Amino acid sequence: MWAAFLLSPLLSFAWAQATHTVQPGETLFRIAQRYGTTVEALQALNGLQDPRRLRVGQVLRIEGAVPALRRLEPAPPPLRALTWSRETPQGRLAVVRLEAPVEISGWVRFLGRDHPIQHNRALLPIPAMQPPGVYPAELELEGGRLRLELRVVAGSFGRLVLWLPPERRALLLPERLRAERERVIAACDHGRPQLWQGPFRRPVSSNRITDPFGTRRSYDQGRTFTYHEGLDYGVPEGTPVYAPAPGVVGLAERLPVRGGAVVLDHGSGVCSGFWHLSRIVVTPGQRVRAGDLLGYSGNTGLSSGPHLHFELRVGGVPTDPAPWFLSVP
Ligand SMILES: [Zn+2]
Repeated sequence: MWAAFLLSPLLSFAWAQATHTVQPGETLFRIAQRYGTTVEALQALNGLQDPRRLRVGQVLRIEGAVPALRRLEPAPPPLRALTWSRETPQGRLAVVRLEAPVEISGWVRFLGRDHPIQHNRALLPIPAMQPPGVYPAELELEGGRLRLELRVVAGSFGRLVLWLPPERRALLLPERLRAERERVIAACDHGRPQLWQGPFRRPVSSNRITDPFGTRRSYDQGRTFTYHEGLDYGVPEGTPVYAPAPGVVGLAERLPVRGGAVVLDHGSGVCSGFWHLSRIVVTPGQRVRAGDLLGYSGNTGLSSGPHLHFELRVGGVPTDPAPWFLSVP
């Protein structure tokens, strides 16, 4: 009964016009797995007599096939349909949306973390180093649990081998890095209601990005790789840095690695960070509007020249800020 309810026409929006062209070596089983459906559903939908007889180049209808939605317990009555990101590149955000006449509260457990459902939507950050593949997401809703599957695909990132003078390399001790990262994450209150509405503004007037998000970086001749957790703007020291969206200042202080640092909490688990500042003009707890001055760019902490590092964490996970300048989830 619930399956019929969930497979209402609303749910099929997620599958609108979905087709698949058969590639060499593919089987109906593999294709069914890829789209989170069953061989039987694809057979029925495409009128296939024999699932072993597929032609390369054959176009299969996927639309209307049973999605990878498994009911663990009865879903709550107001839930009419569910849509979610089919494929998400590493470092981007998958979004799960609930269609319901009322707000349904709950959590989504994904990649070992719990993400709140707010305004019938959950933001699921994909770590930049997450191996491509299919991962389960479990929805814990009032009165029910559902499980669906999200596909992570490879992003395209550059590689950079950096040389650091020995005194700066000493800043990269694992315990030191961990302590500072925990401080930055703790500055973000994941329960705060959402404060932004439209797309984010750029934090500086320049659009000169000297290093994008996700670049694989090595500080030790290529033996280990970390990745770039934000965007670097190549701006001279003393460039004004502005709030990209409304928020509350969660942190404003000097840190060993990040230098002059500000964290803004925008609500819904979304926080932005501004590192290597030469001067900070806000204080913790202060409310800011989009466009308010936070401080001035610099070259403090683990930095090899004047620039602004701007990052966006969702649920504590750094994700690519660039899409937020165009539209917000
Ligand atoms: Zn950076």
